[in-house]
Amino acid sequence: MSGQRTLIVGGGLAGLTAALVLRHHDVEVTLVERRSTTSPQPKARRFHFRTMEIFRELGLADLVREAARDLVGHDHMASGRTLAEAGQLPLWQPAGGEEAMDVSPEPPCLIAQDVLEPVLRKAAVEAGADVRFGTELFGFEQDADGVTTRLDGTEIRADYLVAADGARSGVREALGIGRSGRGAVGEASVNVYFLADLADVVRGREFNLCLLDHPDAAGALASVDGRRRWVFMASGGETDRDWPAVLRTALGVPVPDLEILSVLGWQAEMLVADRYSAGRVHLVGDAAHVMPPFAASGANTGIADVHNLGWKLAAVLRGEAAPRLLDSYDAERRPAGWFAADQSARRADTFRSGVEDPGLAHPFVLAAGGFQYTAGALVPDGSTEPITDFAPAGRVGTRIPHRWLDLARTRSTLDLAGPKWTVTEFDGDWLLLRPDQVVAWRGGSAREAEAVRAELLS
Ligand SMILES: Cc1cc2nc3c(=O)[nH]c(=O)nc-3n(C[C@H](O)[C@H](O)[C@H](O)COP(=O)(O)OP(=O)(O)OC[C@H]3O[C@@H](n4cnc5c(N)ncnc54)[C@H](O)[C@@H]3O)c2cc1C
Repeated sequence: MSGQRTLIVGGGLAGLTAALVLRHHDVEVTLVERRSTTSPQPKARRFHFRTMEIFRELGLADLVREAARDLVGHDHMASGRTLAEAGQLPLWQPAGGEEAMDVSPEPPCLIAQDVLEPVLRKAAVEAGADVRFGTELFGFEQDADGVTTRLDGTEIRADYLVAADGARSGVREALGIGRSGRGAVGEASVNVYFLADLADVVRGREFNLCLLDHPDAAGALASVDGRRRWVFMASGGETDRDWPAVLRTALGVPVPDLEILSVLGWQAEMLVADRYSAGRVHLVGDAAHVMPPFAASGANTGIADVHNLGWKLAAVLRGEAAPRLLDSYDAERRPAGWFAADQSARRADTFRSGVEDPGLAHPFVLAAGGFQYTAGALVPDGSTEPITDFAPAGRVGTRIPHRWLDLARTRSTLDLAGPKWTVTEFDGDWLLLRPDQVVAWRGGSAREAEAVRAELLS
């Protein structure tokens, strides 16, 4: 036997967070990543309330915010013909204003993926994960007792394999798991990652994303550190344009120090794996779902996957739960992945056409964990349709709504559970909270809760 080890393949945001979640639950974990470094691309930059709540549970929220300090105050959108002419747009506010924003103990966070990944990698090592960059998984076989994984020159036997190996997941392919969904959404795009000192140009009108509509250089400019690192995103997928000239036009200011770091062609897609689990192998992150980036949900959804899977693997490995608990990972996270991917594709359509889609959910449903699991490791309340409004009420299958527990606003209802289960009173009822802060049962007496928990784990 392996001594209850889980092997994670892939050291991106999903894999690194999986390692942290598993260590939080005291599971022995090895992570292998074929690259020698974390992502050189800034890609994801917006991390939602729910992700920050997960980092809070892992004791990492403050560390992430410290690393994110460059982009503090860069929440606005901006627009103009060129950067020189662009102005900030007002911040989006939910109906209800400030009060409606108080949905979480943790505000969302802007931090570039290439800044966040090293923070998570270091934290995973410090938490005791065996993190091996520069190590590739070449194959695996599973049997009734475990998974034998073939790495560079060695084999590791593990109880479970977590496939966090990205959109082109070799593990998913080896398992013969197909994907469903719309496929390509919209035109191909190009991301031009460049350096130029624009700190003085943007001061006082800082932005997260600036939409530029110059006829010869249309695109969107994303702040990576708000000063020197930028990504210009253009549609059309043509990678071999004269990018220095295009950028000079789009910026509309002299940029003597302009340096292009990389030009990346990519295509937004909406695809969800047809199964998230096959025996002892579980797909997470982009291996399980890809979606257009307009709702900033790809990485956030992957992080929610591993938060869901982590406590279940730990409970089964410790012998506290029967292995069938792991079936609930697919039952819960596949509909959630489908919902996030569909919403992201709708957002992409709306962005392109300018026509509002009545099927678009309230943004907080994705951002603040408002999606409801209707089947899985819970006692369903009869709901069947995905919710599109955001009305946190402590329904079964949703994360417990945030309420401050003290006047100093240091402790939230979210802090009641994780890594343990909890029973708590809420609006006159009793809630059984799972380690991922999801309501597993709602009822009239605390005494029933323990029996429900035992039943869910049996
Ligand atoms: C332009 C853009 C903007 C985006 N913005 C956002 C945003 O604001 N918010 C958001 O949430 N998401 C955003 N995303 C999506 C986000 O970047 C991805 O969802 C996320 O990076 C996926 O993480 P992952 O860990 O699942 O996969 P990946 O980051 O792809 O990591 C997979 C890793 O597995 C490794 N690997 C693969 N095969 C093997 C093997 N056999 N052995 C060892 N290692 C292997 C790879 O080298 C890779 O490092 C954006 C994406 C793009 C393109």
